[in-house]
Amino acid sequence: MPAAEVRTTCPYCGVGCGVLARVATDGSVTVRGNPDHPANRGRLCSKGTALGETTGLDGRVLAPEIGGREAGWDEALGLVAQRFSETIARHGPDSVAFYVSGQLLTEDYYVANKLMKGFIGSANIDTNSRLCMASSVAGHKRAFGEDIVPGVYEDFELAELVVLVGSNTAWCHPILYQRLLSARQERGTRIVVIDPRRTATADECDLHLAIDPGTDVLLFNGLLAHLGRSGLLDRDYIAEATSGFPEALSVAMADAPSPEAVAAGCGLAPAEVRLFFELFAAKERSITVYSQGVNQSTHGTDKVNAIINCHLATGRIGRPGMGPFSVTGQPNAMGGREVGGLANQLAAHMNFDDQAAIDRVGRFWRAPDIARAPGLQAVDMFRAAGDGRIKALWVMGTNPAVSMPDATRVRAALKACDFVVVSDVVRTDTTRFAHVFLPAATWGEKDGTVTNSERLISRQRSFLPIPGEARPDWRIVCDVARLMGFGAAFDYAGPDVIFREHAALSGFENYGERLFDIRGLAGLEKSEYESFAPSHWPAAGKGSDATRLLGGRRFPTPDGRARFVAVRQEGVAHPTDAQRPIGLNSGRLRDQWHTMTRTGRVPRLMANAPEPAVEINALDAARSGCADGDLVRLDSPHGFARARVKISDAQKPGQAFLPMHWSGHYAANAGAGPLASPLCDAFSGQPELKHVPIRIHREEIA
Ligand code: SF4
Repeated sequence: MPAAEVRTTCPYCGVGCGVLARVATDGSVTVRGNPDHPANRGRLCSKGTALGETTGLDGRVLAPEIGGREAGWDEALGLVAQRFSETIARHGPDSVAFYVSGQLLTEDYYVANKLMKGFIGSANIDTNSRLCMASSVAGHKRAFGEDIVPGVYEDFELAELVVLVGSNTAWCHPILYQRLLSARQERGTRIVVIDPRRTATADECDLHLAIDPGTDVLLFNGLLAHLGRSGLLDRDYIAEATSGFPEALSVAMADAPSPEAVAAGCGLAPAEVRLFFELFAAKERSITVYSQGVNQSTHGTDKVNAIINCHLATGRIGRPGMGPFSVTGQPNAMGGREVGGLANQLAAHMNFDDQAAIDRVGRFWRAPDIARAPGLQAVDMFRAAGDGRIKALWVMGTNPAVSMPDATRVRAALKACDFVVVSDVVRTDTTRFAHVFLPAATWGEKDGTVTNSERLISRQRSFLPIPGEARPDWRIVCDVARLMGFGAAFDYAGPDVIFREHAALSGFENYGERLFDIRGLAGLEKSEYESFAPSHWPAAGKGSDATRLLGGRRFPTPDGRARFVAVRQEGVAHPTDAQRPIGLNSGRLRDQWHTMTRTGRVPRLMANAPEPAVEINALDAARSGCADGDLVRLDSPHGFARARVKISDAQKPGQAFLPMHWSGHYAANAGAGPLASPLCDAFSGQPELKHVPIRIHREEIA
């Protein structure tokens, strides 16, 4: 009799597709999309369908290591606890830090956050999701008072108009894109793509606005001004549910006085701009979907608010087929937001600016020394590791030596840091710097929950035994906490117990609203946790109950009103010049995930793009003296990388694109990390990964 299929969730993007996995008697794993999962209804993309080919033990590190030699858990954990405790005793709690990952499950995230903020007493825990969606978090808080994604995926199908901004949805959120294309076939949904590149997503749209990098605020200020000029505002909604409209409109009108001015500033034709404005004005059921092209910018938060302003001005928010919609890159970026996995958040959607909330969490955790101020955000955390302020750093399930901007400096910081712990599954560029390596369990071996971009909580379930001496991340964190003397607070029998505690901490009241509320799950029996069906929050636990939020006229702000934010066009932080005449954009390929530690092992996923290639326009290739297929060196103010030239008219002259994925495991200095700028958005701390000026030289091969 064949083994039963196990219902689990894909570990890649923020769509959060349901997967049915089956292990054959020979140990091979087959997967298919779960037809009952509300996110994907049976579909999987190229990465998801190849999941069964990623579960082998090739490359796994299955025992702890100290200084590169194999060690037992007792010795390795003892050393981690001792070095962290000694460092804290000598230099204070802010001398240590955790850098975690949107790949972690909510239960892993919860205990890591609790250990750092509750018991170590520092908020120096930040996540690679800082690089992914921190500007959306900051923009939501500025507009709504809380980090809330109002919509649900069904809105992609209910909308008459879907505006995709800085989002190559076809490759980065493929199943959501397929849902959108199906809706378009059935209902004629209009699709506008706003992206400097002509991506696979732009290939299918009704209107592609290839704006110049960094001009999103100007475009959406132009839209707000157009709505104001044309009398297309929802004046009742603005008067009753919002504040700050007159100033936002007046700044938008000054910034973007006419469609012609917007077109000139954005590098577009006036007719394209007018068509977009008219489409948005005409289609009440419209959603504006934004992703890394908006977030990864020194003005990412302003871009988010420029978008939200247009939805507030028309009252199109939290209603079927309407609203601003941030889609997250990682499988559990949203779960990290729930537990407070960002250094500026406390826990359960509570913040450090609320002393009562800090006291509440301290009492709940029985943590007398709880952190009372935000900690270091990703870029600053690695700066601090490099200059000696951070003396002990624990990296969990992420590869900052490749993925962080200014990656060469990050590698130097990891090398300089007194004590580096890495818990991961395989060797990466980052594990090379680890004084202690702790082997973690991976997808298919561990249990817990993830939350996708529409606030849907789904289970990841194990269907394979944990190999060698690997352990689940939550257990590794709890083991270290116990050895540091915090055992009573970290004595969990399993992830179900952690989840119940996490749920019980939710439901705080923010100016009369209880939005992140999953207290109904705090009493789940173990068997109910095991069989838990995907459920939206709030009201999680009733199965997929697609609850929209913020659809009324009350927001979790002091006056109960949503806030317009007056934002001005600022442009990119570091424009191109004669020395570096090309603006480099970076992002994902269809078939790869992050630094390829999993997808890079699957030949069929490597087949489409077997080596790193920089896409440039033919004009720039000619100006740089290179031809299609040449090996070139890219130099930015921060570092260099090598890649093949791929000439493409998808790039406008003066722009180039390099995939983010390649790591030293495959080719030295081939990814975008060493080139990228560490300059960050002032509100979100998110770095400008979407633009850095470069020059390109043909490499002579000796
Ligand atoms: Fe996995 Fe995302 Fe593909 Fe769904 S769309 S199968 S979550 S990578």
